[in-house]
Amino acid sequence: MPDAPPARTALPARADLPVRVVRTVDEHAAAVLALAGPLPAQDVPLALAAGRALAADVRSGTDLPPWDSSAMDGYAVRAGDLRPGAVLDVADDVPAGDTRDVHVPAGTVVRIMTGAPVPTGADAVLPVAATDGGTDRVRVDDVVAPGANVRRRGEDVRAGDVVLRAGDVLGAGAVGLLAATGHAHVSVHARPRVVVLSTGSELVPPGTALRHGQIHESNGPQLAAAAVAAGAEVVDVRAVPDDVDGVRAALAAAGAVADLVVTTGGVSVGAYDVVRDALLADGRGELVHVRMQPGKPQAVGTLPDGTPVLALPGNPVSCFVSFEVFVRPLLRRMLGARDVQRRRLTATLAGDVRSPAGRRQLLRARLEWTGGVPVAVAVGGPGSHLLGALARSDALVDVPQDVTHLAAGDPVTVIDLREHDA
Ligand code: AMP
Ligand code: MG
Repeated sequence: MPDAPPARTALPARADLPVRVVRTVDEHAAAVLALAGPLPAQDVPLALAAGRALAADVRSGTDLPPWDSSAMDGYAVRAGDLRPGAVLDVADDVPAGDTRDVHVPAGTVVRIMTGAPVPTGADAVLPVAATDGGTDRVRVDDVVAPGANVRRRGEDVRAGDVVLRAGDVLGAGAVGLLAATGHAHVSVHARPRVVVLSTGSELVPPGTALRHGQIHESNGPQLAAAAVAAGAEVVDVRAVPDDVDGVRAALAAAGAVADLVVTTGGVSVGAYDVVRDALLADGRGELVHVRMQPGKPQAVGTLPDGTPVLALPGNPVSCFVSFEVFVRPLLRRMLGARDVQRRRLTATLAGDVRSPAGRRQLLRARLEWTGGVPVAVAVGGPGSHLLGALARSDALVDVPQDVTHLAAGDPVTVIDLREHDA
């Protein structure tokens, strides 16, 4: 038997809509960035350091290389002893890890391996390929100049040098440098703990069969992935129906475990825009009308316990773009990163674009390289429900607020969404 149709629920009467602050994208981004600063420092083992931002400058504990070292497998020599055809005694062998103090007597050579300390007396390393490879005596086929194939102590890094600076986000190369300079632990800022709260009575978890009127909850997983990529630790992702008291309770619970709460949906002008009402109920929310497309309705607030809340619109594309321009910079700041913005580049527009007057448009695009020059190909269109196209984009074309038309071939500023560091 088919389910009985649900009883009609009357829409609540529309009360006077609360006041909205009108801001440009830059004004709202600045207001959001002011909500929190870098989180406290903590000491972490190097294995957990990738993707974190340094809380203090780091100095090298050692010269790099720590001693003169061989760049080749061959023979440590006195370059002045070398003549093509000369045969010299091999006085000793020095493999990598040999901790002895070895000396090369005049007129002799010492066999040496890559990464082994160059013996005193030697001033160059003769590659094995320039010899007959002898072990007791060696024939010299070619000569080298003094200094050849020797990596000098300290030529890369000097003990005491500042090798990384506070605010640097640690990538693989930096982690390698920390290890090489003797650091087993490092002081970094804590990762921001984020709770993602999706609102909407139409939302059901992915994996659930949809009934008419229902959609899969996609903003929560989308925001969680974006937050992790930005360096955050996502401690909870949950969806709640459109009920003000339920949203208030969920916000309070989120604030108890999060440094930042990110919500989606319910910040617009509808009868059921419950995040709006929940934030205002506690008297510390601010509704904003941002001059942008997509992403016009936004809200920010502070929970009674002091935790900041960023409330993003529910349309998946609006949500995605809002995260990029407002949430991500704040998360990077909380993480302690010196540079909180994405890289921007100038690209050539592949096709014509129209943009609404008075609103800055952030248009989803794919970057292609034609003859080494970046070309931005718009994907999808302005519709903020077009999730299919969103997944194919890796850039946002930034169309200034007062520009209403751009033509194919025009140079445009593009926000590059490809991840460059951990
Ligand atoms: P709202 O901002 O709540 O008015 O929602 C705007 C549109 O986005 C509606 O079509 C919602 O169904 C949709 N939407 C809201 N939240 C989500 C979500 N978490 N996942 C997918 N779509 C959503
Ligand atoms: Mg909604």
